[in-house]
Amino acid sequence: MSKSPLVSTYARSDLTFEWGDGAYLFTEDGEAYLDFASGVAVTALGHAHPHLVEALTEQARKVWHVANLHRIPEQERLAVRLCQASFADCVFFCNSGAEAVECAIKMARRYHALHGAPERYRLITFDGAFHGRTLATISAGGQPKHLDGFGPPVEGFDKVKAGDLRAVEAVIGPETAGILIEPIMGEGGMREVSWPFLRELRALCDERGVLLLLDEVQTGIGRTGRFFAHEWAGITPDILASAKGLGGGFPVAACLATEEVGASMTPGSHGSTFGGNPLAMAVANAVLDVVLAPGFLERVAKMELRLKQRLAAVRDEHGDLIEEVRGQGLMLGLKARVPNQELLKAFATERLLTVQAGDNVVRLLPPLTVGEAEIDLACTKIEAACLRLKAGAAVPA
Ligand SMILES: *Cc1c(COP(=O)(O)O)cnc(C)c1O
Repeated sequence: MSKSPLVSTYARSDLTFEWGDGAYLFTEDGEAYLDFASGVAVTALGHAHPHLVEALTEQARKVWHVANLHRIPEQERLAVRLCQASFADCVFFCNSGAEAVECAIKMARRYHALHGAPERYRLITFDGAFHGRTLATISAGGQPKHLDGFGPPVEGFDKVKAGDLRAVEAVIGPETAGILIEPIMGEGGMREVSWPFLRELRALCDERGVLLLLDEVQTGIGRTGRFFAHEWAGITPDILASAKGLGGGFPVAACLATEEVGASMTPGSHGSTFGGNPLAMAVANAVLDVVLAPGFLERVAKMELRLKQRLAAVRDEHGDLIEEVRGQGLMLGLKARVPNQELLKAFATERLLTVQAGDNVVRLLPPLTVGEAEIDLACTKIEAACLRLKAGAAVPA
């Protein structure tokens, strides 16, 4: 391929896809790939879902963009539905996960500033976290490889070891505004924060008068078998960032909050030109039509069970390549014993698309609409890839 004029921020494969249908992506030559990446948990209802295509094209014929200087009915409708389906009382719409987390950070700081405690601006974050690529969100994530070369990190993030309540208690202080955490670390390697730990954090926040901020950019909108993952823990946050699956492939994100916290964002305090764009709202409303329909999330849990059982069998058979199956819902990870890239490439050779993650993990993120036959096919491909890797390893280099 000729040299590309794109800024080389990504290590891309040479695969190009022309169209998609459900759980499949097709190359120009019509080769079918089973998509267990979903554009990193984005195309939650698969490709070209008829209800989403219809919603987008219908809105495209009406109006594309209206400034946030006017009331936008589809925005209000989506906000009402998100609130009805969650802990939240109000919503700010934006366009990406990082922006939703950025809004959450600003909201937490502003809440305390307006409640007589402007010194409370710091957030406690966790090792291995990922919150996006803006200056504040790379500082929140705190990963050296993301911060390298970008000058002084944004001030106000205190990183502690994941799952360590004592460490959180040691750091929490008079300048703490809140605790920011992903219920399951996606980029960090599908590491599950235990539900008891989330409950302990909630209790600690209440005791110390600080806010609990959840980054559900990857775990939300049904990905774990609940609308939001924190529901498994039986707690609610004060602020929550949502994106990825919310638009089913159309860029849209949301920052959800309780009434008390959300009220701190007054006119002029924040904004986004494209945030809550009518096209995005139409598609996200259509995504909710499907995800909130009776039985949808139960079906996700059923598919999870099947996929986990099949993967456990593969792990038992190929324990020399796969150490562990982890994650929840249709957000699963294979912890590899070989470099995860090797495993991922072997899967791609079998025309199965997956995503790499930290901690030497390969992520499996099928569309939430995935069927039993596709799950079985994916596992057959994973087995074939494992056999291929072993056969390759047996041949002297
Ligand atoms: C993907 C992701 C983000 C960043 O989302 P962008 O849309 O890329 O800005 C933030 N937090 C988590 C947990 C994510 O998975």
